[in-house]
Amino acid sequence: MSQPAIQLKANARLTSTNPARGYEVLGNVEISTEIEVKSKIKDAHKAQKAWHKIGLDQRVKHLRSLHTHLTKHKDEFVKRQSLEMGMPKTLSNSILEGFLADLVWNCDNAKNCLSNKTLFEDDSEVNELVYEPYGVIACIAAWNFPFGNFIQSTSQALLAGNAIVMKYSEEIPLFSKYLEETISLSNFPEGVINFVYGDAQVGSILADQDIDFLTFTGSSETGQKLYQKAASKLIPIALELGGSSPAIVFEDCSIDDALIENLFWKRFLNSAQFCDGMKRLIVHNSLLEEVSEKLAIYAKTKLIGDPLDEKTELGPLVAERQIIKLEEQIKDALDKGARLHCGGRRPESLNGAFYEPTILTNITKNMRVWSEEVFGPALPIIGFNTYEEAIELANDTEYGLSGSVFTNDKALARRVLLDLKAGSLQHGNAHFYRSQNPFGGYKKSGIGRQKGEAGFDEITQIKVIAWEK
Ligand code: NAD
Repeated sequence: MSQPAIQLKANARLTSTNPARGYEVLGNVEISTEIEVKSKIKDAHKAQKAWHKIGLDQRVKHLRSLHTHLTKHKDEFVKRQSLEMGMPKTLSNSILEGFLADLVWNCDNAKNCLSNKTLFEDDSEVNELVYEPYGVIACIAAWNFPFGNFIQSTSQALLAGNAIVMKYSEEIPLFSKYLEETISLSNFPEGVINFVYGDAQVGSILADQDIDFLTFTGSSETGQKLYQKAASKLIPIALELGGSSPAIVFEDCSIDDALIENLFWKRFLNSAQFCDGMKRLIVHNSLLEEVSEKLAIYAKTKLIGDPLDEKTELGPLVAERQIIKLEEQIKDALDKGARLHCGGRRPESLNGAFYEPTILTNITKNMRVWSEEVFGPALPIIGFNTYEEAIELANDTEYGLSGSVFTNDKALARRVLLDLKAGSLQHGNAHFYRSQNPFGGYKKSGIGRQKGEAGFDEITQIKVIAWEK
């Protein structure tokens, strides 16, 4: 179903700007026309057949050598993530290493996850389960973890024998171009991984093409639109969407430096621009003032600045539009009676999309910082008295991506992890985000899973073949 009203001008360009240096222009990239999008889809269909035919062992080999090739260019990817979307360099480096490790895990485990399995056998017949690729997958992705979005949306799909046409967010065209060029300089088979460039319009055109599966990472609002497109074609879709993840702090916790540091970074890493970041903090009323004040004191010690400077702890947001939305959400909270412990403003000495980490209490459920996803450095903190109240507050969201609990009582922690309605949950210093663990959301946080064995299941069709002996 194409949209005839959309006409993309030939030679139109996406301009990339630096959010840490007054939006100075970094470069631009040509927007793909509808004809170019169609041509990439055609190339992908052609290449996919051969890619499937070479078999799993060969595909694993290709992905391993792509890993080696991407690793050689790691420093440039790190730099480009920092330049274009503002991720501090040290974080950019460690995040990249984490995603490269995911790629290795996927290669190491593809055979186990995707090999045929005998389901039934007797004297006269054998029934076997066979994993097959869907065909061509359109991947439409966000901007907040550029390298990670690529590994997470494509690597398992490629290993399974699918071909990819990827469109990144319009916020990071230069990163996308560099990734495309780097892959083209490797010996990866041509036409299997393809890129197109543009904003929502190009994303919409891509989703309308002859594709067999759609993978989307981005906001729940866009996810809903794409779900409708997939429904009209009756193709499967995997949706990795927004979140408003809660963390609960019980009264037996001591509010020491380690806990404050843990809570702070659960919220403010990457300037609070990550889907499964802690977005609402629920603290026992006896600790509410202490936690809020200690977090505010800690926040004021963090160095905000140029992401390319290795000392920088908090970079800018990706773009001015993110700041504007954040300011509206914070203003709404303050107008409705929220108390500001720190932040609530742009730092005066910096020119770009910078915003100070902001801590808010006196939160009520009618405030946007409570009911909406806040994709920037603000943390609403609310108090509770009883277990039931804490769980009710934590689950009081349209989203269900993740959640955390802090208590020394292990039985209580386990009860909370089981009572929270979300895809990934953690207690204290434990981490759910690992290569082998599936990742995805409940409710408006998504449909389907990426990573781990469940990620392979998501992007393969299963076929049963029964034959006589
Ligand atoms: P977004 O929905 O605005 O855009 C995401 C992508 O979709 C971009 O490439 C954009 O060009 C494209 N797009 C927008 N409208 C479209 C349309 N109508 N048709 C086709 N394509 C369209 O989201 P964003 O602001 O780029 O990213 C931030 C959001 O992504 C947050 O909500 C965040 O929580 C979420 N996110 C989720 C995960 C996850 O794994 N669950 C990971 C990263 C980000």
